[in-house]
Amino acid sequence: MSRIPEVEAALRPDLRGRTAYGAPQLDVAVQLNTNESSYPVPGEVIADALDRLRTDLEGLNRYPDREFSSLRAALADYLAMQSGVRLSPAQLWAGNGSNEVLQHLVQAFGGPGRTAIGFTPAYSMHPIIAETLGTRWVDGQRHAESFDLDVDSAAEQVRACDPDLVLLCSPNNPTGTALPFAAIETVLAAAPRAIVVVDEAYAEFARPGTRSALELLGDHHRLVVTRTMSKAFTLAGARLGYLAAHPDLVDALRLVRLPYHLSTPTQAVAEVALRHAPALLATVDAIKAERDRLVEELAAMGLRPVPSDANFVLFGGLADAAETWEALLAAGVLVRDIGIPGHLRVTAGTPEETSRFLEAMGDLVPEHLDHAQRPADRPAAHRHHGGTS
Ligand SMILES: *Cc1c(COP(=O)(O)O)cnc(C)c1O
Repeated sequence: MSRIPEVEAALRPDLRGRTAYGAPQLDVAVQLNTNESSYPVPGEVIADALDRLRTDLEGLNRYPDREFSSLRAALADYLAMQSGVRLSPAQLWAGNGSNEVLQHLVQAFGGPGRTAIGFTPAYSMHPIIAETLGTRWVDGQRHAESFDLDVDSAAEQVRACDPDLVLLCSPNNPTGTALPFAAIETVLAAAPRAIVVVDEAYAEFARPGTRSALELLGDHHRLVVTRTMSKAFTLAGARLGYLAAHPDLVDALRLVRLPYHLSTPTQAVAEVALRHAPALLATVDAIKAERDRLVEELAAMGLRPVPSDANFVLFGGLADAAETWEALLAAGVLVRDIGIPGHLRVTAGTPEETSRFLEAMGDLVPEHLDHAQRPADRPAAHRHHGGTS
């Protein structure tokens, strides 16, 4: 965009020419572009939240609990239930979305003169958060066809840049696959000074047998696991993300956060939601079933879906991703063009939404398929993977 000269001249030189994060927010019937849940918050959760807010709103003359102590205890209880790993409340930290807790991590452990590495394609906010805080970003690479991250290659790339921060993403957005579990300890060893972050925003959608990096926290004091209530918890609008790490690492984040960063209503809504975790997570199985259906049906159309441990599917095999994106939009379906040639990403919605997308895609396939790519050239598009539960 063009800015008035006064603003452009005053802007930090390293920010000039940058474009802001911008998944389009369009008023379209079927919105499958930002991996939100398609399911509304259940009535029982709303009723309890309103009860709680009635008392809390009266107290808004006071600042919120700066240490959000009861929320931390509730998060620790949830993780024990979800992953089997029992952590103390002092190991939990929360922010306005996991984007904010990632920002706290970069503020405390990155910054000017420091280096962070991630493995592209991964979450587009990782380099944005690192670089806007003055951290040098190293674009590590995944396998160009399968998007897998080979453990040895990850170690080698990390060793080559001797980073202060490593940002891993598992299950990975936008590709959908979880990292090999061994990659985490290998990377910790290859980056002997670094804080190693595993972004597990989609952990609740992982296929059976996928292990969480939470299991490694007891042995590794430079390891951080981030999670969010934006996806499986169907609470993207509440803005509540969190992390788990060693208590001393968590304590260091108090140096950079703004005081009272979590509002009283945010803490209240999150605590109520955590009490209702089973009700809020009840749609996870249905979403996983739609995800697996997307993988199967897209493959049957001759497209190339990547197996997924998340609530979305990345697929390739398109002649021109931008053209297909436009054509889907014209058909009333919003998906995500994440800038990988020939690929689009689609969120698993309700069965009806998923059908709307698949029907629209089916209509487009004859004209939009990349016919230049002979089937023999393709990597295994549809590796078999467990059930849907
Ligand atoms: C969606 C997403 C998040 C969530 O960010 P919030 O700020 O918690 O809404 C974090 N990491 C990844 C990889 C994501 O895809």
